[in-house]
Amino acid sequence: MDSSAAMVSGIEQVDVAIIGAGPAGAAAAAWLARAGLRVRVLEQSQFPRFSIGESLLPQCMQYLHDCGLLAAAEAGGFQYKDGAAFCWRDESAAILFTEKFSPGPGTTWQVPRADFDQRLIEGAQALGAEVLFGCKVTDFAPDARKPRLCLITAEGQKQQLEARFVLDASGYGRVLARLTGLACDSVLESRCALFMHVEDRIDTADYDRNKILIGIHPQLTGVWYWLIPFSDGRASVGVVGDRATLEQAGLDDAERLWAMLRQEPRYAELLKNAVQVRDTGRLEGYSAAVTRLHGPGFALLGNAGEFLDPVFSSGVTIALHSGWLAAPLVQRQLVGETVDWQSEFEQPLRAGVDTFREFVQAWYDGRLPRIIFNQRQPARIRSMISAVLAGYAWDNQNPLVAASRRRLNALAQSSTDSRFDLARHPC
Ligand code: FAD
Repeated sequence: MDSSAAMVSGIEQVDVAIIGAGPAGAAAAAWLARAGLRVRVLEQSQFPRFSIGESLLPQCMQYLHDCGLLAAAEAGGFQYKDGAAFCWRDESAAILFTEKFSPGPGTTWQVPRADFDQRLIEGAQALGAEVLFGCKVTDFAPDARKPRLCLITAEGQKQQLEARFVLDASGYGRVLARLTGLACDSVLESRCALFMHVEDRIDTADYDRNKILIGIHPQLTGVWYWLIPFSDGRASVGVVGDRATLEQAGLDDAERLWAMLRQEPRYAELLKNAVQVRDTGRLEGYSAAVTRLHGPGFALLGNAGEFLDPVFSSGVTIALHSGWLAAPLVQRQLVGETVDWQSEFEQPLRAGVDTFREFVQAWYDGRLPRIIFNQRQPARIRSMISAVLAGYAWDNQNPLVAASRRRLNALAQSSTDSRFDLARHPC
């Protein structure tokens, strides 16, 4: 038995068990361990491990700071990021996060996740969290006071672990959502992503490495690209679309991805000398939801709750936000206070997720590209858009947060007289 766990009737006991050592799990683990609780993180893989989701939003920096992980992340020397650039045919636009409406950090990083995630979980360990790698959670018994997990250790042993509270940060594993029947379909369409890492060798003078580049396919509806440069001369490149469209582009995923990239003139030019350094990956049907984000003795964090869509790089921000929001509530509950998980966790977390969802829907139905590419957009409106795209989706002072759908509709309508009207060429 280790020093951080007690043993009762042959079953180990901790204060908080956390499933998954990604950003959501690491943030919650760091916060709770720093508060003096016995925290055990159960992670099925061995770190460092690849993960997709490499472009952060400035709002993340606040959560990293508050959870005591900013210095650990900073030591990674990651690529500086100050905004998002967009291209479609011969149109281009850039959103600068430092010009955002909401207060808070205006810059962030683009990170190879294997390194970033390892730094975060090591930061949580340094604050006192115990992490078991190679340890897979297989079953769960919810209970308001003593929820219990079944797991298989790295050595292949079946074990049980009792906690006073369980946080599920298992990402696409969605462990508790599946085991407790909370998993449900997303309202967003199922899409497919193909991606790789390249040594980018970009020598184009007007290319800005400080921004993610999001491109829209010149003809194909709903197909878009990302280019996320790292600080070491490599970059993450990907394409998103419906599966049938992507599969028509080649015989295997690598061929399909390169073929799709060559169809977009800006990407074709930027990546003309690029050398692929990681096998092509594929993820599909990743948008997922749950009917509830908590239950007796547990709560769902990050992707283990809801995942929307990669287009605005909101995933890690939502993951960190959820860990940052849940951790103090767990601490309060464990010292005997009553916590209303619905009004104090689920509703506030969902408010920001709902904002991002409105933006995602507006992206795919063409309203948001029309707004973004409208060069005549007043500076104040641009600052409100910038704030949401910088991750400040919980700032109700921003009219684009407080009434996202109505405002996006109005802005899209007022953008119809611009040179550029995606309504006639929906993306
Ligand atoms: P994860 O980072 O997935 O961590 C979950 C951990 O749980 C994993 O390490 C896993 O091994 C572990 N686990 C799973 N099952 C078990 C089990 N049974 N027992 C123990 N451990 C388990 N987000 C961004 O912010 N920026 C982007 O640019 C971006 N791009 C994306 C592109 C694509 C194509 C997709 C699909 C997503 C993208 N995302 C992006 C989203 C991002 O990948 C996720 O939102 C983010 O990684 C979620 O973090 P998390 O901590 O919730 O889960």
